[in-house]
This record gives sequence, structure tokens and C-alpha cells, in this order.
Amino acid sequence: VILFRLLPFIGQLNTARTQFANNYPSAEIVTNFLNRQDKPFLPSGELEFRGLRNAIKFENVSFAYPGYDSWVLDGVDIVIPKGKTVALVGSSGAGKSTIADLVPRFYDPNRGRITIDGIALSEFNLKSFRKEMGVVSQDTFMFNSTVRYNIAYGLEDKTEEDIINAIKQANAYDFIQNLPQGLDTEIGERGVMLSGGQRQRIAIARALLRNPQILILDEATSALDTVSERLVQEALEKLCHDRTTLVIAHRLSTVQKADRIVVLEKGKVIEAGTHRELLTKGGAYCRLYNMQFDKNDQYWQNHDVNALS
Ligand code: ADP
Ligand code: MG
Repeated sequence: VILFRLLPFIGQLNTARTQFANNYPSAEIVTNFLNRQDKPFLPSGELEFRGLRNAIKFENVSFAYPGYDSWVLDGVDIVIPKGKTVALVGSSGAGKSTIADLVPRFYDPNRGRITIDGIALSEFNLKSFRKEMGVVSQDTFMFNSTVRYNIAYGLEDKTEEDIINAIKQANAYDFIQNLPQGLDTEIGERGVMLSGGQRQRIAIARALLRNPQILILDEATSALDTVSERLVQEALEKLCHDRTTLVIAHRLSTVQKADRIVVLEKGKVIEAGTHRELLTKGGAYCRLYNMQFDKNDQYWQNHDVNALS
């Protein structure tokens, strides 16, 4: 079981979470608890998810957060073909993270539907498809526990060798070796004992060990130090390889490499295509590219919220 984007409710859970990490080794329990606390109750479907064959599709999806009356997504169509990488770009507040949260079905759309191989998400057994989804973001949830627990929680069947392989692939082996107790080092509340880049590589190792078919990445917006940055990027590339990936992209290199770029503005898809196609078209993406990329540090600049209007 993968833990998803937990930041919104970490505050409420601070105390409970620590107790959970210490007392309940099953991540399933944590997931259920979080669902109860923060998300609307979504009944699980019956159909066992047996793997993605063709594509994940957003079909005319509109969404408003429960209790709010404005549309956060308005008639969104997105296709994420199997094995491809789709990058979401757009200003802050455009709805990118909301889209990332709809894929693991934290919420259901108010209108339209999200399908896997033509079958609505709500038809599937929740657990069975969430098991095939991994989420890595800059604020991935960390337990107040050991490095080992943070990587392998809920996976009793994994061997030491599996864990070592995952941390090697995640470029985390060397720094973990240098911790006082290696894999058994306590990382503190929210992983305070680690740097941002180290936490990200632990999150990548966690995802690699679970080997999900579908990946949702929320790239860091702030620069890590150069070495850490390179190690994280390398590890992410290994993680994405051969998987179906939806990435909220802030780095120019990620955007350029994506099979398809979807440009969002105020909850609507305003353009989609490859980097080349969109530059040739000379529309919103092209303007965003010219205005918002700082080509020196390769980061999408989020401050210019009105670049598309
Ligand atoms: P992005 O990731 O592109 O910055 P988000 O998907 O986070 O955009 O947010 C889109 C809109 O939804 C914003 O106006 C934001 O304020 C609103 N929003 C995000 N999360 C919530 C929430 N949990 N409850 C209510 N409104 C939300
Ligand atoms: Mg966001």
C-alpha cells in the first residue's frame, strides 16, 4: 500500500500519526484512518484491478472541493497512455495538484469521469488500483521512525536484499551507509534528521520497492544543492522508466522530455502537445516558456501567475 499526498492533513494528525508509526506497522491502517479523517467516504467498487493495458483518461472532468461552489476543474480531458509520461504545467492554483489527487481517487469528479482502459475508477476495488499507484512529491509523508520503516512499511515479504537494491537504485545507498545506524537510524519527526534531497530519495526508494505501474510525481519547485539535485533526478528517471507517469513538472528538462505536455489555466486545459509542437504553435505554452523559464537554473518560475492571461 502506498501513502498518497498527505500534506494537507499532517497538521491535524501530528500526534495521532506518531502513535500510528510506533504502534501499527500496517500502512493500510494508516490509509484507512486518513481516509476517514480528511476525505469524503468513497465506496470501493467490486472489480479487481488487473493492470493498465491502454490508458488512463480524464473525460470531461469537472470538480469542486466539497463545501466550495467554484469549479477547480472545468471540463478537463487528458489521456495518459500506458508507458508514457504526461507533464502538467500551469500557474499556481491552476488545478495541477487536484488532478494528481483525482487519479488515486481521493475524490470523485462532480461531472465527467476518469477511466482506466475505459472503465470508471469507481468500478474498481480501491485497494487493488491504489496498490499500483506510487506518489513521490517534495513533501512526501515521513514517519517518525527508522529509515528502514520509512522505505518498507507494510511490506513484510521484502528481503534485506530487496531493500538494498531499492536504495541503490534510488541513489540513497551511500548516505544511508553513512548514518550512525544505517537503515536502522531514526529519522525524527517528519524526517528532520535528513536533508530535503535525502527525504526525496527515501520516497523514491519506497516507490521502487512497491514497483507500482502508475506514478504520480510532484517535482520540487525549489532548488536542492547541485549534487543532491542530480542524484534525485537520476533516481527519478530510473523510477519513471517503463511506467505510466503523470508529472507536475517544474523543471524544463522534464517538460521537454515528456511525451505530452498539458497546459492548465484556471481549471481548464488550454493546450496540449509535445514541447516542439507547442513551441511551433506559438500559443500560451510558448509565451509561458519564454516568460517563465529561467534557462539558467532550468526551473519553471511560479511567481508570474498571470503570464497566460
Ligand atoms: P495547483 O497545484 O495548480 O497550484 P491546486 O490543484 O492545488 O492547484 O488548486 C486549485 C484550486 O483549488 C486553488 O484555487 C486552490 O485554492 C483550491 N484548492 C486546493 N485544495 C483545496 C482544498 N482541499 N479545499 C478547497 N479548495 C482547494
Ligand atoms: Mg500544486
